[in-house]
Amino acid sequence: MKAVVLEETRKISVREVPDAEMQDTTDVLLRITSTAICGTDLHFYEGRMRGIEGGVIGHEPLGVVEEVGSAVINVKKGDRVTVPTHICCGFCAMCVEGHSSACLTTNPGAAGAAYGYPNKGGYQGAQAELLRVPLADANCLKLPGEPGDNWEDDFVLLADAFTTGYHGVAVIEIAPSDTVVIFGAGSVGLLAAYSARLRGAARVYVVDAIAERLEKAGELGAIPINFLQGDPVEQIREQQSKWRSGPAFRQEKALGGVTCAIDCIGFQARSKTDYSREDPLWVIDAIADLINPAGRVAIIGVWPLKDPSGIERSLKQGKLEVPWSKLFNNNVRIAMGRDDDKRWNSKLRDMIINGAAKPSQIVSHRLALDEAPDAFEKFDRRADGYIKIILKPA
Ligand SMILES: [Zn+2]
Ligand SMILES: [Zn+2]
Repeated sequence: MKAVVLEETRKISVREVPDAEMQDTTDVLLRITSTAICGTDLHFYEGRMRGIEGGVIGHEPLGVVEEVGSAVINVKKGDRVTVPTHICCGFCAMCVEGHSSACLTTNPGAAGAAYGYPNKGGYQGAQAELLRVPLADANCLKLPGEPGDNWEDDFVLLADAFTTGYHGVAVIEIAPSDTVVIFGAGSVGLLAAYSARLRGAARVYVVDAIAERLEKAGELGAIPINFLQGDPVEQIREQQSKWRSGPAFRQEKALGGVTCAIDCIGFQARSKTDYSREDPLWVIDAIADLINPAGRVAIIGVWPLKDPSGIERSLKQGKLEVPWSKLFNNNVRIAMGRDDDKRWNSKLRDMIINGAAKPSQIVSHRLALDEAPDAFEKFDRRADGYIKIILKPA
């Protein structure tokens, strides 16, 4: 089969590899129709998270079931399905409580498994023509329609981008009238903004520095904030000062910040004064400055255990400096971590089917599998409006 292989740092090739094969009676084999490139793939591409060099990458597939193991009950040949990035078993102590991203059996000795990901169980990636899906009954999400229909690019985002964006707003219970700031306008940040609007947030600010991404945030109903055009904290406080509600009407001093914040960038944040270099510290500082007392913060951008090649000493050791005291004294609630995809994917699927959500608005490029090397290079540079790329193996 043809597949996208990360040969070494910054070297992607599309080449023939042995076909993905059934290994267990609980597996199915998926013929991939769409498979997305994720910002997380860039961490591997840049060599910042290592361990899958020489292997197939990708963790966001949509396809049709081609082969079914004898012990699979609920999935049939010909079913259209997507599977979550995080491979779960459905029966371990974590899975039964809904923590599917921390499954205890699919990556023995650790919590959590994934396709095409270092240190997540060694499962082959999904940017390929075929994918082996283990524990198919627990992982396959059945979908209506036909390959290539109007839902194709919505459904592929259920594997990760939409569920992760939604996870960011759900874990801090964003609700009607909340004011929200989202750092990062990649696909997850944009879909977090979209999800915040779906849940009734009154105002959503999206902070980034890439023109096409900020424009897309505006199209989704958010207020774009370019962090290179002035301190984002001041820009947002300025905007909030024009908008008064709640306590201000009873003569108290308006709070001036936001009720909720979501970090959708993670450890490779760009400096707000010099985009050419990284500064992983400023985003959480800005959040601590902006969040109102009793505010809620979600950290869903990727933070690796350690970042040996990073510029920041504390992060090299996996101990980022955070303004803990400011957060504590403001009674701020923090939620963080990976997306328990299965908690949300069937609900978001039903919103797509019923016309209540159209996440594919954020898709910028639909390309053949062969175009992956060029797509990675451009996506990594944030060039030419590359925001979300869907590869089409067929
Ligand atoms: Zn992803
Ligand atoms: Zn499990």
